Amino acid sequence: MSEKQNRFRTIPPHTHCKICGAAIPIGKTFCSNVCMQKSVEMDKRMKRTQLIYLITFIILMLFTLVFFFVRPPQ
Ligand SMILES: [Zn+2]
Repeated sequence: MSEKQNRFRTIPPHTHCKICGAAIPIGKTFCSNVCMQKSVEMDKRMKRTQLIYLITFIILMLFTLVFFFVRPPQ
């Protein structure tokens, strides 16, 4: 067995923090409360961005419909 394979066998089972990538015990998602708060803030920001995209899309669709169906009288 090579030295590289031997080294990997000695690392205990673990997972990584979703935010900073630090090694943490299996079953946990974040390494600290700071990373948990960062994740919550990122989720909020992502939801707000998605809402802005949705509203912009709806406004563009309404404009398109108005210009398609409402034509000036000839
Ligand atoms: Zn972390």
